[in-house]
Amino acid sequence: MSQPPRFLFVDINKRCNLKCRHCMYWMADDNDRANYISISRRNEIIDEFSEMNRNGTVVLCGGEKMLDLKEYFSSTTHCTKVGLKCFSVINGTRVQSINMADRMIMEGPSEITVSLNSHRAKIHDRTRGVVGSFHKAVNALRLLLESRLRLNSAKRIYAMAVVCKQNYRDLDSFYDFVLNDVKADKLKLNFLQPTFGPPAEMHTDEFFEQNIITDYEELGAIIQSCDKKYQLKINPKWLVQVKMYHRSVKNNRDARLGWRGTTGTEQHICNTYERNIMVDLYGNARLCFSTGFPEFLLVKPGDLRDFWENSDDIRAKMHNCNRYCGISHSVRRESATLRLGTKALFKTNC
Ligand code: SF4
Repeated sequence: MSQPPRFLFVDINKRCNLKCRHCMYWMADDNDRANYISISRRNEIIDEFSEMNRNGTVVLCGGEKMLDLKEYFSSTTHCTKVGLKCFSVINGTRVQSINMADRMIMEGPSEITVSLNSHRAKIHDRTRGVVGSFHKAVNALRLLLESRLRLNSAKRIYAMAVVCKQNYRDLDSFYDFVLNDVKADKLKLNFLQPTFGPPAEMHTDEFFEQNIITDYEELGAIIQSCDKKYQLKINPKWLVQVKMYHRSVKNNRDARLGWRGTTGTEQHICNTYERNIMVDLYGNARLCFSTGFPEFLLVKPGDLRDFWENSDDIRAKMHNCNRYCGISHSVRRESATLRLGTKALFKTNC
């Protein structure tokens, strides 16, 4: 691989305080914390990544990362110290005071995204599994935006939704709420995939079966209409792939199988192996979140580079992988939006 990795995904924990219907991490715990890599070891890995790509981005993963503030802010501040960008998606429950919002703006990630599934409290709470989580997510966004203004920060603050049957017909008013009422910088769209997290992979995936969008043409038309109304600069290639993804799941008739399904999307749409390294809590490196491909235990300085430069056999296998996770914002080849530069049209990172 001649190009360096662009993103390093590092796990902070694996437990969560919500009960999202599309994710089973809330059933996990951190009881084997004694086996996790230490903060200093995680920072060494971040250092090694920065030597491979000075312009790279570290993405903090979980669980709800902000349940472990020491680990969370140790990573965000270390990224700042070594000059890397740092992205983090949070559920907002731990940003409920102006003091914490200020800390996030001063010491937190360079780009903060709060998960928000709808402008309707009922739909957000139902899909996130905890009553009251909508008000906390919106409160977190408002506090972060207030702190950013007062502290004169340029940090980007986004909302991100898991789009499914329960919210896609409301996207117009959802965009209006996020952009014009809350006034976040962007509403990112992620699409429902099979339920993830360890126990989910063993069971029938009723939530995915019942909530994956089947009218993909209607979905496409709604996104196009929002694009026009809110000047979103939607990437047309991404929109084609969004429709293809939903058409594939519909035609395969295997949503009920969740991750146990073996058919996948009509086309190969991920490029994780060209840009990402995922490092789990135990120091294992992978080229995507799937445990279906070989992992490499990072033990000493140089191992991260070694893994990246000597994994073309894994890349060759991934190049033929069409699993449903290919539509995820973390791994898809096509970005959702385009931005106009001075000389050309660039793809953005999300
Ligand atoms: S589509 Fe395959 S290679 Fe791409 S992220 Fe999913 S499991 Fe990994």
